[in-house]
Amino acid sequence: MIPARNGCRDVHLLVFGGMKTAPAEAGLARLHERCRVCGAANLVPYLDLGVTPLANSYLTRQQLPETEPAAELALQICAACGLSQLTRVVDRDLMFRNYLYVSSTTRTFRDHCAELAATAMSVAGAAAGDWALDIASNDGLLLSCFRDLGMRVFGVDPARNLAAEATVRGIPTVPEYWSRTVAQAATDAHGRPRVVTATNVLAHVDDLHEFTDAVKIALAPRGVLVVEVPYLLDFIKQNEFDTVYHEHLSYFGVQPLSELMRRHGLALFDVERFPEIHGGTIRVFVSRSESAPARTCGISPISSHGCDRKTAASGPTGRAPRATR
Ligand SMILES: [Zn+2]
Repeated sequence: MIPARNGCRDVHLLVFGGMKTAPAEAGLARLHERCRVCGAANLVPYLDLGVTPLANSYLTRQQLPETEPAAELALQICAACGLSQLTRVVDRDLMFRNYLYVSSTTRTFRDHCAELAATAMSVAGAAAGDWALDIASNDGLLLSCFRDLGMRVFGVDPARNLAAEATVRGIPTVPEYWSRTVAQAATDAHGRPRVVTATNVLAHVDDLHEFTDAVKIALAPRGVLVVEVPYLLDFIKQNEFDTVYHEHLSYFGVQPLSELMRRHGLALFDVERFPEIHGGTIRVFVSRSESAPARTCGISPISSHGCDRKTAASGPTGRAPRATR
């Protein structure tokens, strides 16, 4: 325990991190010593923000004298595939079961979701009546955009408060973490989605292989997965250190995303970049490898932004790729 400053009062922080972690406490913030995409152990540390409490975990007045969880907040990058990840993983139930961030609070993001729904539907060749699934659907904002376009929708989100609100508003939402088991049960109940979206969730996921495998279980044979994540190169170039917090386990470029999909029989076939969303965001389009274009993106190391127009072929629906710069 160390004394720390919280607002205008001193409180005690229970520290999980660095040399201060006691064995009995390590379960709440365990060390992550291998790349969660490729498994390599050559992780190079590059940013250390010290030991901090969890973001968005506000204390009540009654909690002020109590011990507050805190953990090391530091970043490392995989020398093999380019994935950047935190050194420590905090117990996910502490961060996600009662979630305070609500998607529909900003006009910019509402407009972004409307555009995303129309684009995803077009790329997947989906029609009214087909299923759309949003993983980590939050309050159902994106799914409401798909529904406005005539698609049938369902969501999955571990935040019980948000899942219940969305369900009441007519967007069925499973209050669980996305997994193989949930994928099987949800698609048995609703049908296999032609469009699967996962926006601003992959960075929160510790077991990326379970997550991606579950997508493969759910996705319709010629379906399309659309992933949006904050973009590692914008993060580094613009020094966005204030976007580092314990929820954001991973920081992605195109190459580790492509490698992750490849390992699960999926193929990344297009990339777009949105500099104005969350400090810089990339949107990647993914299909099953067997329905992917003959030549997918020519992605070279982490310094590459995305598809090269000369090497990328058209998507599974015949759509020409929209390469980033
Ligand atoms: Zn790696």
